[in-house]
Amino acid sequence: MRVPLLTVENLTKHYPLGTGFLKKTGPVVRAVEDVSFSVAAGETLCIVGESGCGKSTVARLLMRIVEPTGGRVLIEGTDIAGLKTPTLRACRRRVQMVFQDPYSSLNPRLTAGQIITEPVENFARLSRKQRHGLAADLLQKVGMRPEMMHRFPSELSGGQRQRLGIARALSLEPALIIADEAVSALDVSVQAQILNLLLDLQRQMGIAFVFIAHDLSVVQHIGHRVAVMYLGRIVELASCETLFANPVHPYTEALIAAAPVPDPTRIRSEVPVEGEVPSPINPPLGCAFHPRCPLAVERCRIEVPPLVSMADGRVVACHVRAPATVVLTEPAANCCSTIHAAPPQALF
Ligand code: ADP
Repeated sequence: MRVPLLTVENLTKHYPLGTGFLKKTGPVVRAVEDVSFSVAAGETLCIVGESGCGKSTVARLLMRIVEPTGGRVLIEGTDIAGLKTPTLRACRRRVQMVFQDPYSSLNPRLTAGQIITEPVENFARLSRKQRHGLAADLLQKVGMRPEMMHRFPSELSGGQRQRLGIARALSLEPALIIADEAVSALDVSVQAQILNLLLDLQRQMGIAFVFIAHDLSVVQHIGHRVAVMYLGRIVELASCETLFANPVHPYTEALIAAAPVPDPTRIRSEVPVEGEVPSPINPPLGCAFHPRCPLAVERCRIEVPPLVSMADGRVVACHVRAPATVVLTEPAANCCSTIHAAPPQALF
């Protein structure tokens, strides 16, 4: 069996709120709870959910910008936690990140050329000519003129700055790019250009993406599979086609129902979700969505629903729509065969 490019197993992150000795015993923010998924080479997995559900924390854990409280991240089968530099540095080259705000993530004192060649120069000495050639090549890859290598970030538009961020991520020839709300701060027309650029790069270079977004139309445009998060946990993971055509989790249903519809003549059934997202410091017992769920039953108030594989290949955590006694007709095919989240007893 081919090892996935990225495997995430039971990833958990709790941020302690206290300081000193209270750090260990005080309250914690349960930002990410028991998240598992995998990404194949050349694939785009989107992560969606309301603000505060833990999407960016997952991105930071994948990049090892923050250390997990529990769980593992494997790059091509290798656990990144056990790696010592320089092995870790070599492994890190395979995964790069593009941030939401290109301006604050680019050094304003460096020119575009210096910004995009800097990651390579951390690994190897480049001659002036090599640096120039690399910068020109990368700028062309992201649709910018080579002369722009002499400009500073403040002399570029928002879209150009995001292209520059992408060029910098490409400089180390990564196998996976984590894009955290990479188009959210851009105008709609510029958003479309950047999304098309990412799709072109994926076709040409076979790069995989973990694409974090809150805009479902963006996800539908770019994703192969989508994971829906609610209060730190994945509640549904399916191929984009399956999820948008037929959402199963009541929260996914509500998210899709609440998304703007470009066609005003299309009639859509509204699924009301009442109330606020609960606090991750003191999440509700049982299913975290139960206080807002129109389908909640007694079991939802007591037991956390496990992720259960469905016959169409998706996984869903819902006592009502995907009870853990569900019988599989076929092993999960295109979309969930690599998911490890469901405990074995929950699958059957
Ligand atoms: P999202 O990206 O979905 O908006 P985040 O991953 O940024 O969500 O945050 C998830 C939760 O973790 C939020 O409640 C947020 O306030 C909390 N959080 C994020 N970073 C920290 C931190 N460094 N310390 C404490 N809490 C944090």
